Amino acid sequence: MAEEQQDIDTYYLESFQEGILKCDTRGTIVFMNRRLKDLFGLEEMTGQDITAFTKAMDANIPQEDHKLTETIQAFRKGDVNGNQGKFPYAQGPRRLFSFYVSPVLDTAQTACYGYLLVFRECGEEEATDPQRREMISVVSHELRTPLTTLLGYVEMLMQYDISAENRRRYMEIIFAEGNRLSHLLEDVLDSERLESGGYNYHKTYVPLIELIHEVTERWNLKSSHLIKVDSEVEDVFIYADRFRMSQVFDNLISNAIKYSPGKPLVLIRIAEEAGYYIIEVTDYGIGIPAEMHARLFDKFYRAGHSGSRQIKGSGVGLYVVKKIATDHGGTISVTSEVGRGSTFRLRMPKPVHLD
Ligand code: ADP
Repeated sequence: MAEEQQDIDTYYLESFQEGILKCDTRGTIVFMNRRLKDLFGLEEMTGQDITAFTKAMDANIPQEDHKLTETIQAFRKGDVNGNQGKFPYAQGPRRLFSFYVSPVLDTAQTACYGYLLVFRECGEEEATDPQRREMISVVSHELRTPLTTLLGYVEMLMQYDISAENRRRYMEIIFAEGNRLSHLLEDVLDSERLESGGYNYHKTYVPLIELIHEVTERWNLKSSHLIKVDSEVEDVFIYADRFRMSQVFDNLISNAIKYSPGKPLVLIRIAEEAGYYIIEVTDYGIGIPAEMHARLFDKFYRAGHSGSRQIKGSGVGLYVVKKIATDHGGTISVTSEVGRGSTFRLRMPKPVHLD
């Protein structure tokens, strides 16, 4: 009977359009369908350890996209949050694949017999426009969460007899989630605007320290973090768009706060260095792994390292910061250590004729 069931399973899994690999709980491959072997040009690997499979795969996947191994490792340690992903596969013509990992459970959903890896080749449109793909996935995920909460509370307000106190609480949540939605949309639209023709900058001589104090005070009022400013210069000016520059500081401070839960100090240091003003925003939070630094300023890039996955965002903040800094002749860079914190360093040129 068990054998018959096994045959049915195998037959069923062989008929899939997706590439499928089944492992037992120790990580030994117990089944891979023909489609999987065809998709990736692999030999039969039944009986081998899953690491043999990921090694063979990684040989054809660019280093920065080795999400498959990471996801499987995280999944085996019990982290089922990010158990899916996409990667380009470079054997023959470069193609894009999506995959997910899922546990194999008994019918009562109590015992786990192993896990299943499912691979699908992405359609041409998805594959040829990675930025669009990234945007659709970020936007759909980030917008869906507040929207679902919001609709849930509205439904409760409509259907049930609710005390005045709860009614007020629900409305506050609806208001907060509505605001979050609106900010997310603003972020995305703003970055789109940036793409199609750039911002119109209205540059004037902006008092740098005054502007930083202004932004900092706003954050000190609404956040439980303490933002401290330490400046080695006084009364200096930059030639910049005041609104866009405050957006730069807002984004850096907001990230510093957001990614340092339980570490309530953010330091801003302002100094002068060979024709530039240096503004450093330092937090003592979760930090960022070195291999992710290069991509942080890419549009829609969210470094999904441990500790940051639960923190919400759209992945456009640093992209906008970099664009504005560059448009003002400045630069932005980062130094960071996982578990110790991060420093974002903005260099803004001193206006020459004010020297
Ligand atoms: P997001 O909306 O996701 O915060 P950003 O463009 O502002 O987007 O940042 C991109 C990614 O960089 C974030 O998703 C996060 O992983 C990482 N990051 C940015 N600032 C910090 C920080 N101060 N500490 C740790 N990680 C950070």
